[in-house]
Amino acid sequence: MPNSVFMEDLDAFTYRRQLAEGNGVVLIPAGSIEQHGPHMPLNVDVLLSRAMSGSLAEAIGALVAAPIVYGYKSQQRSGGGNHLHGTTSLDAATIIAISKNLTLELARQGVRKIAFVNGHYENYQFLYEGVDLALRELRLGGVEDMKVVLLSYWDFIDEATIAELYPNGFPGWDVEHGGVLETSLMLHLHPGKVDVDRIADLPPARLPNYDVLPVRPELTPDSGCLSSAADATADKGEILLKRATAGMAAALETEFLGLDQR
Ligand code: ZN
Ligand code: MN
Repeated sequence: MPNSVFMEDLDAFTYRRQLAEGNGVVLIPAGSIEQHGPHMPLNVDVLLSRAMSGSLAEAIGALVAAPIVYGYKSQQRSGGGNHLHGTTSLDAATIIAISKNLTLELARQGVRKIAFVNGHYENYQFLYEGVDLALRELRLGGVEDMKVVLLSYWDFIDEATIAELYPNGFPGWDVEHGGVLETSLMLHLHPGKVDVDRIADLPPARLPNYDVLPVRPELTPDSGCLSSAADATADKGEILLKRATAGMAAALETEFLGLDQR
């Protein structure tokens, strides 16, 4: 009998039993296929949202559904931009449809506690919209007890951790694309997928505080990274995973398990 928090590792009978006998919380990782500089693969956001979900599931006794692999279009000011080759994205309407569909599909199986664990900056508002539409439809159908939490894992890295891990100044989560956060987590979780020799040590990208369409490609650094990963280490990745997991666990225990952590 496989012992895993990941739905896709389980046979249907074990999955059903764990769902029925556990606390009933199901996590849905949301990633993207997006360039992450010369030193990391295209599926970093999938790998990290899935690993965060796995760690969180073990902490609170939840299950992890198969991840949403593609994401909303990479933005120049947060992911380098959708014009870069390899970055392969979905329209907003598709992301909304996927999050609505998955919420309804899990509801059909009796799940009433879902958390989307987002790992791609641009996904968030469209996941939210899909959940909102699903809950409206469920209420019209008489289902009143569905609760969904949406979160992005980096929002659970507290100020003290930021000060500790970014002694030379924190560039901001939006430009933490292929930078210290993601590269450190990858070095901790998937060291074989990081080519440290190809890390581009450049100052944070200087992007305007507005968007232009069509994009002006010259605004994105050649590396595709928006901040340097030169200071990334596996030890930082371990700390980031631990702190984010603890923060997310406290939030979900408050929302789903009635344990007020504040
Ligand atoms: Zn990323
Ligand atoms: Mn991303």
